[in-house]
Amino acid sequence: MLTLGSSNITVKNVAEGTGPFVIRLCDDASLPLPLRESEAYIIQPNQPIPEGFALYIFLEEESGRLDEISHKAPVMVLPNAYDYLASGDVIRLNLKNNSIRVLYRRNSNHNSFLTTERCNNYCLMCSQPPKTADDSWIVDEILATIPLISRETQEIGFTGGEPTILGDDFIKILETCKNWLPNTSIHILSNGRNFANPEFASKYAAINHHDMMVGIPLYSDISNIHDYVVQADGAYDETIRGILNLKRLGQKVEIRVVIHKQTYERLPQLAEFLARNLLFVDHIALMGLEMMGFTKANLEELWIDPADYQLQLQKAVDILANYRMNVSIYNHQLCLLDRSLWPFARKSISDWKNEYMDECTGCGEMDACGGFFSSALLRYSDHIKPIGANA
Ligand code: SF4
Repeated sequence: MLTLGSSNITVKNVAEGTGPFVIRLCDDASLPLPLRESEAYIIQPNQPIPEGFALYIFLEEESGRLDEISHKAPVMVLPNAYDYLASGDVIRLNLKNNSIRVLYRRNSNHNSFLTTERCNNYCLMCSQPPKTADDSWIVDEILATIPLISRETQEIGFTGGEPTILGDDFIKILETCKNWLPNTSIHILSNGRNFANPEFASKYAAINHHDMMVGIPLYSDISNIHDYVVQADGAYDETIRGILNLKRLGQKVEIRVVIHKQTYERLPQLAEFLARNLLFVDHIALMGLEMMGFTKANLEELWIDPADYQLQLQKAVDILANYRMNVSIYNHQLCLLDRSLWPFARKSISDWKNEYMDECTGCGEMDACGGFFSSALLRYSDHIKPIGANA
């Protein structure tokens, strides 16, 4: 038996040599005994502790009750900051560095899985800078997690790196989702280049999922500009061929345009290009910049105050809407947008990264406004101004 301790997390009574493992949390003391063997029980305040669970999770504030359970039961004591963990969540416990990672939160609408850190683009504003190390172990972790996810989950996402670099392993992940989560929508963030390969695109389409969409970035109507932004020669042609292959096979495609200093000027021309050449895509998201990863290093090359590209944004939305294309604005604060654009603005920032600034105090539109990424503290618009009656 192994006892591990650190100032943060303590694990006791877990067999020595146990590798990282994935487990679902549970607070149901009446769970049938055979099912308890694969679940981790979260200690409930003032409630008796049931027997037979694979692991018992105490918050520090409950750790005075450790002697209430069998001295052989595997135990993990977490800092009170983990009090957000809830029944149905899935965690990965790694005994090598005495850490946990939360893989899935049942109460969140923004569950997404990083499939790999490898990528064949090297975008100026990449929020998850690519690495080259073999991280294919992540595939097994995702395959172990999917069966533990609630079947009521509305949507899950897959990101990277570039998920399609996993090839057949990525197809396997998606097939596993279809089998275990038949009602759950899937959203994939991909640069689209590998879908230029007809064989791979056909395998993807053959999954025949009821609601699966690929979000693919396209940064310009001019190939050189796109290739510069993604730092990869020839990427534009492959991405366009990927999109065409997917649509030919009846798959859902979303175009994602991150707006920054390198892309804002030709937004109207890009909108015109999309309307004339890719009218059949399912959604277009015009997105504000997130201050993560490479964006911080390339800030001077990327940053433009969103207030300064409203003209181009409005023209682009007008063009797309006039062509009856399904267009949304993501990651933009309502006070920066002309009111005519409000119907297109979505609260797109994941709940766990969402913030409001001091300037927002008293804003009457805070509920409708998506606010900021928490990383926006680094740089945000000089034109944030509360709106409405409470301001
Ligand atoms: S003041 Fe803040 S909450 Fe109000 S619209 Fe602007 S960013 Fe949103």
